[in-house]
Amino acid sequence: MITVVGSFNMDLFIEAPRFPTPGEAIHGRNFRRAPGGKGANQAYTVARMGMKVAIVGSVGQDAFGDEMLASLEAVGVETSAVVRRADAASGTAMIVLDATGQNQIVVANGANNVLTAEDVRRHASFFRRSKAVIAQLETTLEATEAALGLARESGALAVLNPAPFTPVSDELLRLCDWIVPNEGEASNLSRVEVWDVKSAEAAARVIKERSRCPNALVTLGANGVWMDTPSFTGHVPGFAVQAVDTVGAGDTFIGALVVRLVEGAEVREAVRFGCAAAAISVTRRGAQASVPARSEVEELLKRHN
Ligand code: ADP
Repeated sequence: MITVVGSFNMDLFIEAPRFPTPGEAIHGRNFRRAPGGKGANQAYTVARMGMKVAIVGSVGQDAFGDEMLASLEAVGVETSAVVRRADAASGTAMIVLDATGQNQIVVANGANNVLTAEDVRRHASFFRRSKAVIAQLETTLEATEAALGLARESGALAVLNPAPFTPVSDELLRLCDWIVPNEGEASNLSRVEVWDVKSAEAAARVIKERSRCPNALVTLGANGVWMDTPSFTGHVPGFAVQAVDTVGAGDTFIGALVVRLVEGAEVREAVRFGCAAAAISVTRRGAQASVPARSEVEELLKRHN
């Protein structure tokens, strides 16, 4: 079993010919909404890869909260540890897409911002039963720190996806067994500008020194992953695919990676599995909607063997 501690956000999209200027109202079209949030997306992926998973998080007592929980429950995610707040709205992102494909996004974190360390500790029994715990930086730092601390106490693998980047203490990083940033997050954590494999190598080394964490991975979009681990250090290339929407690629990568680590796969193989799952997801639109079934990931890996 895996426990994810993290965020829920309902993404609301409108397509517009251009962005409005201040005070202006313009006509858009094709309104749609989709359940997201890094924590929810990662838990969704773990379930799709066939592993038992629980999520600890916080949503409002509102229709978006109902819908986001239903989306996870539909794939078997255990949601009883999600707090329903009467005093906060569910996290919501308003996204305007213009005719050139650019976007403007405003996020109201809402209930994600009031997740407490106590909310996390109340569900210690989930951690004790878990082989791994995954946390991000999209709720509160106290919740993330409590999650990583409980992982350590429980002997579970503690995995941090430091996204979206927020300054964190070295003490928090020292609770991690795996740190998995993308290029931008790795740049911020290490103060080494990451833009290619070589700079990712340097950044991963700094992140490991700073955190004393044994395993650092830097995800490099279509270029795959730089891995720095005790058993293998090197570049794992991405799978060549026609990308149509990369939203949630990192979440799919992490969920799939951790499933294979818990199953005891060799680390390089686990990273390749994560890359394959994420590569399929970028060929489809949406975050949770683009996560493949496990059989599709295995099929892609077989074709590349
Ligand atoms: P994030 O979504 O957090 O910014 P990345 O963009 O680094 O993270 O993507 C995470 C992983 O998803 C990459 O390591 C890679 O395996 C896969 N991926 C992302 N974009 C592509 C792409 N265009 N083609 C193939 N794989 C991709």
